[in-house]
Amino acid sequence: MKFALVTGASRGIGKAIAQKLAGDGFYVLLNYHTNRVAAEETLREILDHGGQGELLPFDVSDNAQVETVLGAWAERNPDNYIEVLVNNAGIRDDGLMVFMSVDQWKNVISTNLDSFFYVTRQVLQPMLIRKQGRIISIVSLSGQKGQPGQTNYSAAKAGIIGASKSLAMEIGKKKVTVNCVSPGFIETDMTKDLDAELLKKLVPLNRFGTPDDVAEVVGFLASPESKYITGEVISVNGGIYS
Ligand code: NAP
Repeated sequence: MKFALVTGASRGIGKAIAQKLAGDGFYVLLNYHTNRVAAEETLREILDHGGQGELLPFDVSDNAQVETVLGAWAERNPDNYIEVLVNNAGIRDDGLMVFMSVDQWKNVISTNLDSFFYVTRQVLQPMLIRKQGRIISIVSLSGQKGQPGQTNYSAAKAGIIGASKSLAMEIGKKKVTVNCVSPGFIETDMTKDLDAELLKKLVPLNRFGTPDDVAEVVGFLASPESKYITGEVISVNGGIYS
């Protein structure tokens, strides 16, 4: 049994990733923060389709919770380890920087970027010992090219890209790969307040992406076929130049 942890798996892109990995045969650990109903529904759909998994709620921005929950999982599963980590949980809280509060800055950095460090380091050692592992983080077009109103979010996502490239170089010899997937506009709760009719005109493929469009690429990066790819950022944005 191979184990995959997907953070923010209750809804949106994380839900599609969890479903894809379960369909590919992984036992999926579904992390979420507060939305238990949505997380249970995601797990039920996975089980109904013959997949396997369990819920693992914790706040990715709280290092103590991350250590406690993942430490307890490791103790309960001494013969197993998390072979695939998908750092997907994220939030946005937009505003022009001139009006941005310290809390707005810190919350977005902490949930999107600090979480990369907190969660990844908990699963890293077993991957290195077994010389087998995949760390995949969902970043954003905003972190590659910038986006007005998103200095906090762009900084966090660009930070993950930099950290992933460095980590890829640190651990390549141990055959653990570290990559990012960078969506553009994807139809989820996070983008439901955006004017899709207007914004899709910016997209050469002329539509917002679906969570499944992103999940397919994550599925490939989690698979053995991606073994010679590390330190990369793969865009899933319908052709927006990045
Ligand atoms: P979403 O629909 O808003 O879902 C966010 C997920 O993250 C939920 O499962 C939520 O859990 C979880 N989450 C939020 N804060 C958390 C915390 N502190 N601890 C644990 N889980 C937490 O978002 P999405 O659109 O699927 O986005 C997923 C990822 O893709 C994010 O990293 C986002 O930045 C990135 N992305 C999205 C787009 C897009 O267009 N949608 C574009 C580029 C990048 P609860 O259900 O418990 O709240």
